[in-house]
Amino acid sequence: MMNFALMCGRCRKKISLSQPAWRCSCGSLLDIQMEKEPDFRFLPGNRQGIWRYRAFLPVDREENIVSLGEGNTPLVSLDLNGRSFQVKMEQCSPTGSFKDRGAAVLISKAKEQGIRKVVEDSSGNAGCAMAAYAARAGMECRVYVPEATSPAKLVQMRAYGAQIVLVPGSRQQAADAALAAAGSGYYASHSWNPLFFQGTKTIAYELFEQLGHTAPDVLVLPAGNGTLLLGAWIGFKELIRAGAIPRLPRIYAVQSSQCSPLLAAQIQNRWPPQDFIPKQTIAEGIAVASPVRGCQILDAVRESGGEVVAVEEKEIRSAILALGAQGYFVEPTAAVSIAGVGRISPALQPEERIVSVFSGHGLKASNAIAAILDEA
Ligand SMILES: *Cc1c(COP(=O)(O)O)cnc(C)c1O
Ligand SMILES: [Zn+2]
Repeated sequence: MMNFALMCGRCRKKISLSQPAWRCSCGSLLDIQMEKEPDFRFLPGNRQGIWRYRAFLPVDREENIVSLGEGNTPLVSLDLNGRSFQVKMEQCSPTGSFKDRGAAVLISKAKEQGIRKVVEDSSGNAGCAMAAYAARAGMECRVYVPEATSPAKLVQMRAYGAQIVLVPGSRQQAADAALAAAGSGYYASHSWNPLFFQGTKTIAYELFEQLGHTAPDVLVLPAGNGTLLLGAWIGFKELIRAGAIPRLPRIYAVQSSQCSPLLAAQIQNRWPPQDFIPKQTIAEGIAVASPVRGCQILDAVRESGGEVVAVEEKEIRSAILALGAQGYFVEPTAAVSIAGVGRISPALQPEERIVSVFSGHGLKASNAIAAILDEA
């Protein structure tokens, strides 16, 4: 199948997807180009989850698909602070976060490419997802995690049989350690490896179908490395190319104000931002000080007519309490986007349709949530 190719954003080199490349030989990021646009007229009626869109995913052979039942998450309505909006329940994914979409496609393609061993770095959920899919595929998996990672996420990775390397210091230091080790295995990085975004783009396809073949007006998403945000951007752009929707939803990227390099860049109008110093946040899943695709995230937000916003720790805590009171239990990082809806919605028109996500399950961070409850 020649429908997909790897393409370097800087030197424009094209690389065949039969090769397991996660970065261009010039050192730059690779993206995946899909030559044909998605045609939603001939989707298999009897197939659910992300592989329903198999014709638009870069895995050639059915037998290489590694699946745990990812995708097909419910879209629920929520009323918060006098505003109604819809939320995609990504915490219902097999490992408890949306990262399963990306890991399923990345590991399936790695299997197709004959890879036996993968290396990843993660603040938790990407490591859990990669470990689970690697286990399902019978691959070895090593994950570099920052020392401060939630214990529940470490237990989850261990249960899937992953080798865990605790790296003292920041999230960035874990990434550097993984990069240094990637020579001895395939770097299944969710931020570098473009295959991951081919998985996360299915959230756009699902929303399109769940909303009766339309797109939302406003999409409010968390942004650390931007893997969900860029996936949604890719998916909706493909739908535009296919003539299925007229325009992109306005994409709002929500960060923690303790670690908001994208907001700093938006204000300074330059990437990377100058004099940016990250601070500690309870939103461990988006504590990313220098996202490798930062420039792309800003492009996506700008092109869509959206904005980067940041929420304070106390807004994240309030969102957790408000969601719990409505029966939803999500981890602090997932409460960030809901707090973001609270920030953004006063400036929106009442008829505009807003969609956000519950990006990760509360059971992954029950210690951190216990501390929030004790304080409240
Ligand atoms: C990974 C993650 C995010 C942020 O996603 P990025 O791809 O880093 O932007 C948000 N919430 C949860 C629960 C996550 O696991
Ligand atoms: Zn290049």
